[in-house]
Order: sequence, then structure tokens, then C-alpha cells
Amino acid sequence: MDNSSRSINQLVQILSKTPAFSEKGAERFIEWWWKKPKEDRKKFLEEWTDFTDFGFCSRCFYFANEELCHFCRDADRDKEIICLTVSPFTVDIIEKSSDFKGNYFVLGEEVSGHHNVKKIKSIQARLENLKKSIKEDSVKELILATDFTSSGEATAQLVKEIILPLFPALKISRLGRGFHGGDMISYGDPLTIKKALERRE
Ligand SMILES: [Zn+2]
Repeated sequence: MDNSSRSINQLVQILSKTPAFSEKGAERFIEWWWKKPKEDRKKFLEEWTDFTDFGFCSRCFYFANEELCHFCRDADRDKEIICLTVSPFTVDIIEKSSDFKGNYFVLGEEVSGHHNVKKIKSIQARLENLKKSIKEDSVKELILATDFTSSGEATAQLVKEIILPLFPALKISRLGRGFHGGDMISYGDPLTIKKALERRE
């Protein structure tokens, strides 16, 4: 095996450790990469390097390049209502589809049938921030925008069980059933999402 095939194998191994690539996907990416002129490769890497310092908002866990994300820094948003999602990308969908002007909270994980201990611990750790926000901002309503799948429902139930006993006066709502059972929010069209927010229950 010459040096270049050794490094290609190494690259496949590195890439297939990321959630974006299967081993086959990593091979396709490397083929594409190999065909690119050197200048384009450099540019691609430089563009990625710009995102090295990015992280999550220390308050709501949305994407941020400062301590707080642009939602949490925006004084015009209604702090008394929080919409909780599992993924930061769901925040983007809701933001694009509706006229929701409250704040967001990103859970980062959802619980499913098995192997939940690590996930529950991570959810509990993030919910510490949510408890703080509910207290400090006198939050009146928490909208649970988790999917209408069994894991989405289980996650919503877990959040309720943790939060409600601490804040009995807090209204905890769920998106309206414009989504049919089993539906995922990320597959919803903008109108369905807008209506589901309006018809929350
Ligand atoms: Zn934030």
C-alpha cells in the first residue's frame, strides 16, 4: 500500500466518524475532494475555519458565535413565552414559518425507547438553564415543539415532569394537531407550522 492510499484510508476513517458520512459517503466526498483544484480545496477549508469558534448560546443552546445567540440578545422579543425544540434547525423552521416573537430553548436530545440514561442526563443539564430563564424572566408559557412521534411525545412528557412541579402556574402547551400522528415538524410546510402554533393546546 503506497502512502496516498494509506492517507485516503485514514481520511475515510476520520470522515466516517462524523454523523454526516457513512463509509460510502466518506468515499464519495474524498473522490469529489480529490478532483478539486488545490486552490478550491484551500478556499473550502478556509471557509470552514471561519466557523471554528462557533458554539451554542449559553442561555438557550441555539447556534451562537457570542455568549448569547441573536434571539437572546434581541430586546424586542417577548421573554415571557418560550418555544422549546429538540434541534436548533427546528427553531429556524418556526422562525421562517410563523410570526412567533418569543424566545426559544433547544433541548439538543430527545428520548426514545432505549439507551436513554446519557440523553436524559444531557436534557436535565440543559433544563437547568430553562428553569433559570423561567424564574428570571417570569415566563408565562412554554410551548413544547417536539415532534409528534413516540420519541417526541416521550421527550415532551419528560420536560413536563421536570418543569411543571417547579412552576405550577406556568402554562405548558403543545403545538396544535395540524400535524397528523407520527408527523415530524421538520417535514411541515410553513402554513401547517404557522397554524400549529396558533392552535396550540
Ligand atoms: Zn439564545
